[in-house]
Amino acid sequence: MAIKVKQPPEEMTAFEEVSWFFEQAAERLDLESELREMMKQPWRELTVQVPVRMDDGRVRVFTGYRVQHNAARGPYKGGIRYHPAADLDEVRALASLMTWKTAVVDIPYGGAKGGVTFEPRELSRWEMNRLTRRYTQSIAHLIGPTRDIPAPDMGTDSQVMAWMMDAYGQLEGYNPAVVTGKPVELGGSYGREAAPGRGTVFVLGEWAKLSGVSLEGKTVAIQGFGQVGSWTARLIGSVGLRVVAVSDISGGVYNGRGLDMEGLLRHSREAKTVAGFAGGEAIGNKELLELDVDVLVPAAVESVVNRGNADRVKARIVVEAANHPMTPQADVILNQRGILVLPDILVNAGGVVVSYFEWAQNIQQFRWEEERVNQELLKVMKEATERVYQVSQDWGVGMREAAFVVGVKRVAQAIRLRGFV
Ligand code: GLU
Repeated sequence: MAIKVKQPPEEMTAFEEVSWFFEQAAERLDLESELREMMKQPWRELTVQVPVRMDDGRVRVFTGYRVQHNAARGPYKGGIRYHPAADLDEVRALASLMTWKTAVVDIPYGGAKGGVTFEPRELSRWEMNRLTRRYTQSIAHLIGPTRDIPAPDMGTDSQVMAWMMDAYGQLEGYNPAVVTGKPVELGGSYGREAAPGRGTVFVLGEWAKLSGVSLEGKTVAIQGFGQVGSWTARLIGSVGLRVVAVSDISGGVYNGRGLDMEGLLRHSREAKTVAGFAGGEAIGNKELLELDVDVLVPAAVESVVNRGNADRVKARIVVEAANHPMTPQADVILNQRGILVLPDILVNAGGVVVSYFEWAQNIQQFRWEEERVNQELLKVMKEATERVYQVSQDWGVGMREAAFVVGVKRVAQAIRLRGFV
């Protein structure tokens, strides 16, 4: 099949961008148009008001969302984002990505995402607790262990999941399987926190094996030092890479000989940022993306690689640990420049895979050892990487398009088998 490189429009919203990748795969699969419409648009969207009594006695009214994109393959699944940019369009885009992500790794879920639009650093712990409870009450009729299972995402963590579980339990009775990414003490799974980072490293290592590329002694720059970025940084040495640069929202640090990871983790725990670490020179977030390294790992926010800087990316391999870190325009430019892109819906699926293990453990009321969690994670990520690699070889397409082809095909098949249309 000849590869048509279509040019994406210049201005697109986040949801249009993700839909662009979906459309490419639908085209490649020659999917019926009626099915395409069903699969592109979310099945259900809810916008809620979240009034919160602040510590100073005033009431602030926040806006929250839960977008349920598709549930053909199982209950809706996806994180909750607390971020100033988490508006309906962004949540919709991220919900759609979850549909393809759960399908690529073949776990029995659909895709969803939630969000509340605010800057979490501006709220106290008690304000955050009250906001989470109010938001959970407002979406409680849509979620549930067999309906829709939230999890952490940017700006949320295991503590927020504990509050969600508690608020849901007050309405519906105790049921830990309603959210994943909980603290281990409340039914969370060992290994869940490290899972997106661990999965990222597994996928990169597996891809290198399949394509006969040696990563030994090569350099890597990581943008983002939250849960995903910091765990990736910690584990990526296992595939032979040397971390020379990391950054977070406050700035970054570079050392061509390799960063002392122990020292960096200590510094970031104490200073709450990697910026100012004495083991290297200061570097900006934008500079990091254009460093002369072998591998670049965007592990922070959306659209950081875009048509404004795609020409200047020097890495030969880009590993998308973040959700949607690259626009379609940049994707075309990188492809034309022969830069290999390992896509988000495969790379960072480790989080939702261990969420699935957590959910299964909750339902069985049984806990797995961490070793078992990591082994099973490796198995799932290995199979998914092999499948996507095979499709990319057979069809002569990049890894992103191959991943979308695998995911979209599985969802289409589930819809057909259910007999909706
Ligand atoms: N928020 C994570 C993601 O984007 C995890 C979702 C989940 O575990 O449900 O994949």
